[in-house]
Amino acid sequence: MSIISDSLQVIQANIATAATRAKRNDSVTLLAVSKAQVAEKLREAYQAGQRAFGENYVQEAISKQALLEDCNIEWHFIGPIQSNKTQLIAQHFSWVHSVDRLKIAERLAKAREDHSDQPLNICMQVNSSNEASKSGVSAAEAADLAAAIEALPSLKLRGIMAIPAPTTDLLQQRTQFKQVRQIYDGLKQQGHALDTLSIGMSNDYEVAIEEGATIVRIGSAIFGKRQGSK
Ligand SMILES: *Cc1c(COP(=O)(O)O)cnc(C)c1O
Repeated sequence: MSIISDSLQVIQANIATAATRAKRNDSVTLLAVSKAQVAEKLREAYQAGQRAFGENYVQEAISKQALLEDCNIEWHFIGPIQSNKTQLIAQHFSWVHSVDRLKIAERLAKAREDHSDQPLNICMQVNSSNEASKSGVSAAEAADLAAAIEALPSLKLRGIMAIPAPTTDLLQQRTQFKQVRQIYDGLKQQGHALDTLSIGMSNDYEVAIEEGATIVRIGSAIFGKRQGSK
């Protein structure tokens, strides 16, 4: 068995254990984050049964998509979005996790109009207090952005995504995820029909699942160190 399929098995088992521990009866999706990994590695994961892949850079993703055309992959865009890339993102991905402003949502919606039978699945990137990245909307802004996205027929608002500051302190991980979960629950209470909480990465996905993650985005724990990564 390859290292990648070994890692996938271990991670899937850990996901199941964390979900059981948290008495979850909904499902948790493993998103394989494949930025800075060559197409053969994605193919290896695919052959081991992995179907959802996350990419951060548009051109890199499109090159790999061309090499993996024969695979039935669900592509998620999870990186920062420049407005001049919205056309390509809307055409080459079925999910976008990193929508953080209305202008981007509107441009994605326009670019997706041709496929409005298959709306683009959207998560808003939110910035809870301890966010590592500067991007993301605040809890207050999230409510307005959610309403605006719901008014765009070629987009389907699914939930929120967050990238809390990296820490090995389990308690701090949990506190950060709880803050994101509160924003998620708040939006649902306001009537937004959300089903996706995209939190948790290689170093904290088990805690994220205990705090309600429905998608965990895992890169290095599956594929190993990224090429050219710091
Ligand atoms: C790179 C990245 C990940 C995966 O990080 P790992 O620590 O390698 O699991 C998850 N989410 C986002 C947004 C990323 O950019």
